[in-house]
Amino acid sequence: MRILVTGGAGFIGSHLCERLLQEGHEVICLDNYFTGRKENVTHLLSNPRFELLRHDITQPILLEVDQIYNLACPASPIHYQYNPVKTVKTNVLGIINMLGLAKRVKARILQASTSEVYGDPQVHPQSEDYWGNVNPIGLRSCYDEGKRVAETLCMDYHRQNKVDIRIARIFNCYGPRMLENDGRVVSNFIVQALREQELTVYGDGSQTRSFCYIDDMIEGLIRLMNTEAEDIHSPVNLGNPEEFTIKELAEQIGKILGRNVKLKYLPLPPDDPKQRRPDITKAKRLLDWSPKVPLAEGLKKTIEYFAKRNIAKAK
Ligand code: NAD
Ligand code: UDP
Repeated sequence: MRILVTGGAGFIGSHLCERLLQEGHEVICLDNYFTGRKENVTHLLSNPRFELLRHDITQPILLEVDQIYNLACPASPIHYQYNPVKTVKTNVLGIINMLGLAKRVKARILQASTSEVYGDPQVHPQSEDYWGNVNPIGLRSCYDEGKRVAETLCMDYHRQNKVDIRIARIFNCYGPRMLENDGRVVSNFIVQALREQELTVYGDGSQTRSFCYIDDMIEGLIRLMNTEAEDIHSPVNLGNPEEFTIKELAEQIGKILGRNVKLKYLPLPPDDPKQRRPDITKAKRLLDWSPKVPLAEGLKKTIEYFAKRNIAKAK
């Protein structure tokens, strides 16, 4: 198949391009390099089935493809809040352009949605039928509400135009190729620990997240795209149901590095969700998927990646 991956030079996108090429597909990687890097895909450039396009999905594009993974959108709060209006445009105009393309060429399209559609959840763990608790006017809204409208558009293009859509609600994913200045907690803590700096804990560190290693996530996304299950045209949670407090995450990183990490407590950002854990019953049932990589193992691989990049020296 010929497969378009928008945001393909980013963290998740570059792993996805790699895996799709391994499976023998032709891959068009589209990116505007806002948070992605050519470096993430340079090793794929010599593959004749790989094509790299600099393009912004807020602008229409004409391509002939069989499948589209729409991943283009900055995922880290510091990056999506840098230009919030652009974040809304990427989410809304971007998915309209991609759904229009899917409709025209009859491609199947998978939207990378997010656990942020549940906001600061009042139901725990979160299953797909929970409608969420999102602030529509806060600093995170450009991302959260943008992703919610994108889901609405996917569902409406499906109902109105029969576009074959898939929606993955991705819960915190981590692994090699996250940016060292990405601002997300796993990369922040690892980079700080390698530099022997204090780990910046926002709030008291009792808030929880469930961290899914990249290889598990890629497997889930590919299964979701390719399943023929009947009730698949609605959102599916993809994430690791093991839940940790942010303090526990810091301790785990210290344990792997074999040293006592020091913590520095900073104010909690506004609207920061207090707890998050996916209910993955639906993914298990429809995709026969569940994550295999435990946090300690995934963290070890991610630490090795950052250590190889010589993060400690580049203070
Ligand atoms: P990332 O920031 O590494 O990748 C996003 C990519 O999209 C980057 O390469 C960026 O340059 C590109 N991009 C941004 N705006 C664009 C635009 N207008 N046109 C073209 N390209 C554009 O983030 P990621 O972690 O790889 O996330 C990928 C997708 O998964 C995002 O849609 C994100 O919202 C979603 N997601 C990620 C997580 C996570 O934990 N990583 C969680 C939930 C959802
Ligand atoms: N966080 C933290 N220190 C950091 C970065 C993040 O304590 O240096 C916290 C953040 O406040 C949140 C959690 O870690 O409660 C996860 O943050 P991240 O930005 O990785 O993801 P999200 O909030 O989008 O789930």
